Amino acid sequence: MTESGNNTTEFTRHRVLIIDDAEDVHRLLGARLKQERLELLSALDGRTALEMAREQDPSLVLLDLDMPGMDGFEVLRHLKASDETHEIPVIVLSGLQSPADKVTAFDLGAVDYITKPFDLMELRVRVRSALKMADLINMLAQRAHIDGLTGLYNRIAFDERWAQSTAENQRHAKPLSLAIFDLDHFKSINDTYGHPAGDEALRTFARLLQRECRQSDVPCRFGGEEFVLIMPETGPDAAAAVCNRIREALEAIEWPAHPERRVTVSCGVLGADNTATISPSDWVQATDEQLYAAKNGGRNRVMVSRADRADQSLRQTG
Ligand code: GH3
Ligand code: MG
Ligand code: MG
Repeated sequence: MTESGNNTTEFTRHRVLIIDDAEDVHRLLGARLKQERLELLSALDGRTALEMAREQDPSLVLLDLDMPGMDGFEVLRHLKASDETHEIPVIVLSGLQSPADKVTAFDLGAVDYITKPFDLMELRVRVRSALKMADLINMLAQRAHIDGLTGLYNRIAFDERWAQSTAENQRHAKPLSLAIFDLDHFKSINDTYGHPAGDEALRTFARLLQRECRQSDVPCRFGGEEFVLIMPETGPDAAAAVCNRIREALEAIEWPAHPERRVTVSCGVLGADNTATISPSDWVQATDEQLYAAKNGGRNRVMVSRADRADQSLRQTG
């Protein structure tokens, strides 16, 4: 993953889900929002609306309050209670005018409240502003997961992805491997050639990591000059082969800023072909121990062990 792909406002047509029991409201909104380049979805009752919100993941919901069966407040409560839908902004579009109804709607998590009959211009600008805000929030959420120097996922993103990956391994006994890379004697690169040269080495290694791993692998900057690679569907032997390829590719690079000095990396790998017998955090810890062994063994090497057996004897590869 890189820093690109944040211009959702420019390139994506937003999906807006309109929830109202009155069919003429859907027709009216369809006509009135025509020029807005929106994809409009319609639901005439609360149950259908919740299903559509889950399945279609709209960018915005326009919600009527006064509906038979499940009313708008109830729909709003359900939307905000579900992990799948709680981030979708909701504008209430209602004939109910009392301050108490407005307060309840905002308390339940609505971002805006428009009273019917609505003014066309007002509706448009409020829809636009809600979508702009949603885009901004999405962009910030994405940025919070990206490392500024390398464009790779950062530690926060790693923690989330690692939790998902290990859960998959536990649930379905799917192969999974983890690698931790640490550049060798990196401090001396900074000290000898300056911090910008160090930064360039980090960026170059990040690009190499991205290039050499599979689409389904997740490369992250763990912090400083340490990187991690989550390799789903990959057992320890295949993972060690990938990491050795990365190690060799780095060693082969000639650096314009310091042709006399190569950069190398040490790597620890812990992988499982079946369900792992250790916890996710112990897995990271044990991978770090493999890395430590690679450093102690002379650096510029990959040490690999298993997470699905009690016998975790060290092995050097490559
Ligand atoms: P070892 O082979 O044992 O890993 O030695 P090392 O020198 O790589 O390890 P050490 O932990 O002593 O030094 C890591 C260095 O990485 C120190 C720190 O200044 C540098 N570093 C961490 N983050 C950055 C960064 O963003 N940019 C640059 N240029 N240097 C960084
Ligand atoms: Mg280090
Ligand atoms: Mg280091």
